[in-house]
Amino acid sequence: MSDTPSDTRKPGGRESLDFLREIVKRDTLSGAYGGRVATRFPPEPNGYLHIGHAKSICLNFGIAAEFGGCCHLRMDDTNPETEDMAYVESIIGDVRWLGFDWGNKLFFASDYYERLYELAVRLIKDGKAYVDSLSEDEIRRHRGTIMEAGRDSPWRDRSVEENLDLFARMRSGEFPDGAHVLRAKIDMAARNMKMRDPLLYRIRHASHYRRGDSWCLYPMYDFAHPLSDAIENITHSICTLEFENNRAIYDWLVDNLFPEPRPRQYEFARLNLDYTVMSKRKLLQLVEESLVSGWDDPRMPTIAGMRRRGYTPEGIRLFADRIGVDKANSRVSMELLEDAIRDDLNARAPRVMAVLRPLKVTITDFPEGKVEWLESPYWPRDIGKEGSRKLPLAREVFIERTDFSEDPPADWLRLAPGGEVRLMNACIIRCEEVVRDTATGEVTELRCVHDPDSPGKPPGGKKKKKTAAIQWVSAAHAVPAEVRLYDRLFTVPDPEAAEEGKTFKDSLNPVSVEFLRGCLLEPGLANASPGERFQFVRHGFFIADAVDSRPGIPVFNRIVGLRDAYARRIRQRADSLLTGPSRIG
Ligand code: ATP
Ligand code: MG
Repeated sequence: MSDTPSDTRKPGGRESLDFLREIVKRDTLSGAYGGRVATRFPPEPNGYLHIGHAKSICLNFGIAAEFGGCCHLRMDDTNPETEDMAYVESIIGDVRWLGFDWGNKLFFASDYYERLYELAVRLIKDGKAYVDSLSEDEIRRHRGTIMEAGRDSPWRDRSVEENLDLFARMRSGEFPDGAHVLRAKIDMAARNMKMRDPLLYRIRHASHYRRGDSWCLYPMYDFAHPLSDAIENITHSICTLEFENNRAIYDWLVDNLFPEPRPRQYEFARLNLDYTVMSKRKLLQLVEESLVSGWDDPRMPTIAGMRRRGYTPEGIRLFADRIGVDKANSRVSMELLEDAIRDDLNARAPRVMAVLRPLKVTITDFPEGKVEWLESPYWPRDIGKEGSRKLPLAREVFIERTDFSEDPPADWLRLAPGGEVRLMNACIIRCEEVVRDTATGEVTELRCVHDPDSPGKPPGGKKKKKTAAIQWVSAAHAVPAEVRLYDRLFTVPDPEAAEEGKTFKDSLNPVSVEFLRGCLLEPGLANASPGERFQFVRHGFFIADAVDSRPGIPVFNRIVGLRDAYARRIRQRADSLLTGPSRIG
């Protein structure tokens, strides 16, 4: 997709450009970078990517493709303690799955350690960086506050020679962690606190997943990030708003160490999605404490979780496109994501029948042993796709327990004692008798008669009163399956804003998944391939689980429910009841 000619150069066919695309357009028109556009997506491989990252990925790769540029995938791996090759692999897989291609532009900040070290040495030689020997605590105390200027470290005026000597010995492993740091020499009274001599390097005697023990001196994010951008000749470095104040350091470093035209940083609002958390640290906690089944748990907001849940890359990209980019932080409702997923699945998921909570129906006037094969289309007319299969109708079928009510409300259109309902694509049945378990009183079977003339069509001539069409499966042909219904992982829109003494984990939804065993599917679904998606009519969109589904013993995840037109109608009725008019119809 990103490399199809149709969406290069032409900014997405968009009607109006967002502020970032306006900037990129301005720069390509002015020739600021000789017409070149290079963006990057720079994750730290310390966790799995989530839907927030997807927004950034779509933005960076999208802009590059639209302006005929390229987008680099860079592992921002300067932290030995938390990074791991497994995360690198998951990131690569996830970005590729989303549909983006970085060509040969896969980079690692850890490949730049030598370059970065040399750049630090240059700053020292220029009198722009110094080795500070204050402790972490003392450095904090010297930094001052927003109201009050910081104080210079007593080590701030070390000579260039002494700084070079100490910095080399920091690298060679002579000092323990925390003994010294390298700091930029900027201004301890700067209004922007980030500019009060920011830390550039720290000592960490820890093995790095790629560099092993070859370094014990690691660059800070604020140092490595802008300089990695400059090393790669990035033009537009797009990051989230919380780095707004870091832009001054970005500019200071790149201006001091690289010639024009150099990369520039622009900030946009991060994605915050209701009913979930988006911090890698918190997601890691959920995984490590087994509060979910893993990074790819279908309830997780990770790309891996959404993939297993059955979301499509196209649906996620559609969502990213619809939310756009903005300069002010806000929260996005889950419905917006789910709508995009539905809109994408609508034309790609064939309609099939599944009964999740079965109730037996015997059609008493249907001959024993007879099977009638009824042509049933996979697609509703408005999708405009061809394709159908034959479904068996027999004397015993199962319908959804919730499609029968012994004591229905006045506007009930489904089955009730003495009432009628249409078996979808088959015939109308009328309930003549309700059979129950003598011990529990539970309804165990409905005995019905059908309209024998017209299976598959409305009974000719006769004008029937309005009935609903419900899904059903033939008892003898149905395929037993497990179906997993997923709900929100949290019970509150913003779990990270936990009240005093509570954490985000206190608002975990205790019923975020329901495992339904003994569901019954139409026969063709026995051999659904893992990853195959369907719409179970009246239930929603489902996917054969990539991990647990097996030929003959299918396991399905609900991707997303249907847009609830029925529920909306009920609500409207309830509202009109409150305001007066009678309950008829
Ligand atoms: P942390 O820094 O807590 O480890 P992070 O989510 O910032 O986590 P990074 O790996 O640094 O993770 O993120 C990579 C890129 O994704 C960054 O450019 C960051 O700005 C962007 N990003 C992260 N979270 C979001 C979000 N919620 N919405 C949009 N972009 C995001
Ligand atoms: Mg980050």
